[in-house]
Amino acid sequence: MVIWGLVSLFLIGGNTVVHQYPCYVVVDPGHGGKDPGAIGRRGTKEKDITLKIALYLRELAERDDDIEVILTRTKDIYLPLSTRIEIAQAYNPGIFVSLHCNAARSYRLHGVEVYILSPARTNWERAVEARENEVLKWELDLPEGDEATILYDLAQIEMLQESKLLAKCVLNSMVNSLGLHDRGIKQANFYVLRVFMPAILVEMEFISNPNREQWLCDSMNQKRIAIAIYNGIKEFIRNYQ
Ligand SMILES: [Zn+2]
Repeated sequence: MVIWGLVSLFLIGGNTVVHQYPCYVVVDPGHGGKDPGAIGRRGTKEKDITLKIALYLRELAERDDDIEVILTRTKDIYLPLSTRIEIAQAYNPGIFVSLHCNAARSYRLHGVEVYILSPARTNWERAVEARENEVLKWELDLPEGDEATILYDLAQIEMLQESKLLAKCVLNSMVNSLGLHDRGIKQANFYVLRVFMPAILVEMEFISNPNREQWLCDSMNQKRIAIAIYNGIKEFIRNYQ
């Protein structure tokens, strides 16, 4: 059962009063500043696409009493992964969604993947994990050793089922409403997902595919992606709160 409390109960004079709070959704536009993320063949930077879609997501929530969207960054600035985690934890209980664009050596690959925090099982998952964790080389305050890793793992196992359900809702919504190729729910040890709350990392499309890069750059498509992700989050909240 999800315990991140959209609803709290108060007993007043023997009556149960249900008090609604907006659910916090922390949206993390991947990369930024000195870290461009993946770069398409036409020169599009992952950091710019993720920010635009995150800003559209926040706009959607402005008209919605049930959800409050908080962005980890609103500008083109570099933000260490540990800072992104700190921001997320300030809004716990809540949901964490990190936005990214995929990249591959083959320019033909296309489709959407949604990741949860768990050890990578395939070479592909390991490659994506290495790319998205690469900025750790710039981070200073990393927890070291097995002890820290085990602590994170235990805390995250509790969130695994919720994260899987969130991943499923967002993936289905994106595949159904955008017609994207479904590359499935995947798992990897992404540092940024160690937030102790239901958390996913969305690889929205392949920026390395020139056709898909062009598609990602279109502002109408960016809005449609934001709406699809938003509807997936709403579906998760409706069904699993
Ligand atoms: Zn990325």
